[in-house]
Amino acid sequence: MMGQLETDQAKLFYEFDLEEFVPTDHLLRGIDRFLDLSNLRRHLASSYSQIGRPSIDPELMIRMLIVGYCFGIRSERRLCEEVHFNLAYRWFCRLGLEDQVPDHSTFSVNRHGRFRESGTLRFVFEQVLERCMAEGLVGGEGFAVDASIVKADANRRRGVPGGDDIHWPDPPRASRPVREYLAALDEAPRGHTVSKKLSLTDPASQWTAAPGGPAFYAYSTNYLIDLDAGIIVDVEATPAHRTHEVASAKTMIDRVEHRFDLKPDRLAGDTAYGAAPMLGWLVDDKKIEPHIPVWDKSKRKDGTFSRADFTFDKEADVYICPGGKTLKTTGRVHDGKTLLYRASKHDCDVCQFKIRCCANTPSRKVPRDVNEAARDLARSLVGTARYEKSRHDRKKVEMLFAHLKRVLKLDRLRLRGLSGAQDEFLLAATAQNLRRMAKWIGRGPPNVAAHAT
Ligand code: SF4
Repeated sequence: MMGQLETDQAKLFYEFDLEEFVPTDHLLRGIDRFLDLSNLRRHLASSYSQIGRPSIDPELMIRMLIVGYCFGIRSERRLCEEVHFNLAYRWFCRLGLEDQVPDHSTFSVNRHGRFRESGTLRFVFEQVLERCMAEGLVGGEGFAVDASIVKADANRRRGVPGGDDIHWPDPPRASRPVREYLAALDEAPRGHTVSKKLSLTDPASQWTAAPGGPAFYAYSTNYLIDLDAGIIVDVEATPAHRTHEVASAKTMIDRVEHRFDLKPDRLAGDTAYGAAPMLGWLVDDKKIEPHIPVWDKSKRKDGTFSRADFTFDKEADVYICPGGKTLKTTGRVHDGKTLLYRASKHDCDVCQFKIRCCANTPSRKVPRDVNEAARDLARSLVGTARYEKSRHDRKKVEMLFAHLKRVLKLDRLRLRGLSGAQDEFLLAATAQNLRRMAKWIGRGPPNVAAHAT
């Protein structure tokens, strides 16, 4: 006999306990175990008035945001609806069955004002990171750095050529992203280069040509991760440009050292981080082994001798050429970064290799970057067991980016401006660390890169 549901939804009294309703293996239970927001109210105390109508509880907003970023709910309106209907979300947000979920417009106003001004999202990220450290998930021996491009919320057709002749609205009438951009421009150093094409809605985003597709406006999310369990130890938003990405790597390494006394022995990265100044900074200033391919354009393709064909004698500070002669430097630094080592015209005039070496000049010059010793060290590490391990482990950061876009659905930003991108990237990284802790603890120490979350 076909059964028929007999129920009375208008029943006045229920015996219902949310705590019992949420399955024991629900991801939010694991996350809840590791999320401690007991210091949040103290952190935000100075941002709230002592009088007036009570605001939405900031802990409720943070818990709702974590739900949104953990489960890829990108719209605030939808997030409010989901928390209203989903009992597990209600339980995680500490809402009872009959408690009101904030209206999405009130939610937005509260979120963007106080949270941004008080650095609340970084505070929450760091609280979660401290818990990761307490749980033994951060070894601190090896870090990896990488960046991933995320589309900005800016119409690619609403752009103008960059330059001084853009008529921006007066500050009171300008949007927040435009005000932020103009303020940053005022503080930029002289000689700062402006992008060739600027978005009028989100001018801090970078016009980016992606391989195989049309260009678009974008930001980069920069991750510094610990290689043990792939925990994100720092995150930074930048315009999607290599110069900003490399600068952010330095910012993050310094900040993690300052905030948590964490400095790795080795840093894994791709060629984007292999330019001489970055390698010099890592080796000479930070004493960190660069497990990074060297950015080197000195190899010649016309069959003549490249710099690699000359041997550097560190003791004597000279290069030895393939003809066995010495190239010396005056010690003068050109363009603030290069020493020139010159052969003697007398030697080159009579050399059998003249055609392959310096056919069009009287003698051979070999440039040497002031950070060449750091580049040499980076080259010497290639192929060692430690380097190969770093190269393998670096996949963890790439997998975090894949997870960010596929599972957390952060392939396009909803907030504009650099601070909007920073908010979104901080929340996403917090969600990824919480998911990682919830999933990994209890399964033993992680050591397989294939498990991204
Ligand atoms: S041409 Fe000059 S620098 Fe080149 S191999 Fe001969 S002596 Fe050395």
